[in-house]
Amino acid sequence: MGYWLLLESLILLSSDYGYCLECDRPVQFARLEIRSELFLCIDCQSRKELADR
Ligand SMILES: [Zn+2]
Repeated sequence: MGYWLLLESLILLSSDYGYCLECDRPVQFARLEIRSELFLCIDCQSRKELADR
């Protein structure tokens, strides 16, 4: 049956991907790291965390 294929593509299309607010690159996020609309790639995120200190 195609059910699991459909489910898999739904998972792939779901919100595991976002675009970095800083550099507009598509970034894959671990679901647990998604915070509201704040999407930053690892580079920009670490840069921001460094800047916050
Ligand atoms: Zn970025």
